[in-house]
Amino acid sequence: MTPEEKKEYDRIYNEKNRERIRERNRKYKEKNKEKMKLQQIKYREDNKEKLKEDKKKYRENNKEKLKEKNKIYYEKNKDRDREKRIEYQKKYREDNIEIVRERIRKYKQNNKEKVREDNRIYTKSDKGYKIKTISSWKYQGLIDDYEKVYERYEYTLFCDRCRCDLDQSNKSRKCMDHDHDTGLFRNILCFYCNIKLNQLSNTAS
Ligand SMILES: [Zn+2]
Repeated sequence: MTPEEKKEYDRIYNEKNRERIRERNRKYKEKNKEKMKLQQIKYREDNKEKLKEDKKKYRENNKEKLKEKNKIYYEKNKDRDREKRIEYQKKYREDNIEIVRERIRKYKQNNKEKVREDNRIYTKSDKGYKIKTISSWKYQGLIDDYEKVYERYEYTLFCDRCRCDLDQSNKSRKCMDHDHDTGLFRNILCFYCNIKLNQLSNTAS
């Protein structure tokens, strides 16, 4: 038999006996489970660098595919794992606060334009506007139920004192009149009423 003939013979033999070979392989695997496992571990250990390199190459060559796969996995499990993920992220941030801070600092430094643009979009979004507004109240010394006060702030269209149309003027001109001793919110005023009120309280004291 020439090598060519032998090859052809093997091919036909394999085809004819496919089921039997499969069964034999299965049995062999079952019988040698532990041995094969050890072999596999040893192989992985002996070829650590090569496997690492292969993995990296695979990731590089299949970027889009993997991205898609991750996205599908994320969508599928986003609700199931949400609580767990948030908890994990919180703990990670707490345990690695210095690393996280450094990473953010570096990211900001390397992505100045993008960060600026993202900030601009975020501040314009409802959520971002709300957080920015509430933090400015805190800075002014207003201490109250911020959720409740913000709701009032959002739906107030007219100055509580002179009834002028606050929407006509600049939104940021809505002034949060509050008790300067307790911090508690009192009224939403236009810019001018707020100045007048401050002058009155200054002359009174
Ligand atoms: Zn007014």
